[in-house]
Amino acid sequence: MKVFKFGGASVKDANGIRNLYQVIQKKGGQDTVVVVSAMGKMTNALEAVVEAYFEAPETIATHITQIQAYHFSHIDDLFGAEAKAVKSQVLDLFQELKDFVKTNKSPNRSFVYDQLVSFGELVSTTIIAAYLNAQGIETIWLDARNCVKTDAYYRDANLDWEKTQAVIKAAVKRKQTIITQGFIGSDSNNFTTTLGREGSDYTAAIFAYALDAESVTIWKDVPGVLNADPRVFDNTQLLHQISYREAIELAYYGASVIHPKTLQPLQRKEIPLFVKSFVKPEDPGTSVSKGQTLIPYMPCFILKKDQVLLRMSSLDFSFIVEDSISAIFALLHQYQMRVELIQNSAISFSVCIHNKYNRLPELIKELESKFKVTAHQSVNLYTIRHFDERALDRILNNGKKVLLEQRTQETIQLVTT
Ligand code: ASP
Repeated sequence: MKVFKFGGASVKDANGIRNLYQVIQKKGGQDTVVVVSAMGKMTNALEAVVEAYFEAPETIATHITQIQAYHFSHIDDLFGAEAKAVKSQVLDLFQELKDFVKTNKSPNRSFVYDQLVSFGELVSTTIIAAYLNAQGIETIWLDARNCVKTDAYYRDANLDWEKTQAVIKAAVKRKQTIITQGFIGSDSNNFTTTLGREGSDYTAAIFAYALDAESVTIWKDVPGVLNADPRVFDNTQLLHQISYREAIELAYYGASVIHPKTLQPLQRKEIPLFVKSFVKPEDPGTSVSKGQTLIPYMPCFILKKDQVLLRMSSLDFSFIVEDSISAIFALLHQYQMRVELIQNSAISFSVCIHNKYNRLPELIKELESKFKVTAHQSVNLYTIRHFDERALDRILNNGKKVLLEQRTQETIQLVTT
């Protein structure tokens, strides 16, 4: 079995879906599980519905109408005179969504999020399965919620590997082309859960693991994994081969090309991962597998914007050691701050954090009862793997002030203004 994954950008419109069909025809065929995200920016659009549900219920209907219209215009483009049957299937899904909005009693925002946002993937896969069938590729639409079994930690659910593996093995037969949704699963009460934003890569890895697949291919709008994000850095270069370990490191430091959770299951079974261009499917792209760290070997740049640098020092000149460090970490965990970098000296402790849930003022207030705290907001965190002096100069010459630097043998990190 092969597992393919198509992200939102690759299926953002009718042409994207036509292109997906071409790729499956040339490279997939039978014995392929195709994992698909929501079309284009539909997950963001559905997040706006959740926002409206809690903050401005009178605007929900408008949001839903817009999302429906977006899908319908692409259905018209793909199916022309035959659009009616597909539209009716999609309308059923929108009806389900509206029914949930009307009847839900739960005030749990994350629960509501998962029940609503999951419709992006349900709709995209419904349209794509219908299109593939219409083109003569016999396709089975599989509801990932029946396969990907998780706990009830809504918005970032954790997998029940045993159950998931058993269900997938039973559901996926050989000699089939299967279309399923990325990102979504269900808990033990069969309520929908999601695996975290960009979680469709992870879904592909879950299916591959359960099926002992021969490979996973992520089809993207870039030629493969580059040594930096081309939207941020100039002169980026394609990496031909990356070891699992290096890919996990890059994902950890924030390289956005592969979802961090994806690599672990693949590495455990040594299933190779290919990242390829959906525009040029014949090109080799990047292979992530057991093997050499990086080919070609070169510095890799990662930028995380909008971080917070907190510097804490003791109020009475006492050392910051185990007890105070563990108190700091307990608070960082409590306020859901993701720690990106730490550095300490005898009486000071610095930490670069991602303030994902906007809880910084509360955190600082608590910290100030124990420490003198300085906060630098909206700072940049640059990471260079396999750095050399020239690579470092590229960052240092951009006129930004370096607030903190940390080096290990392979990696340098700079917090700048
Ligand atoms: N549709 C989800 C998102 O946009 C999952 C994914 O695309 O991987 O985050």
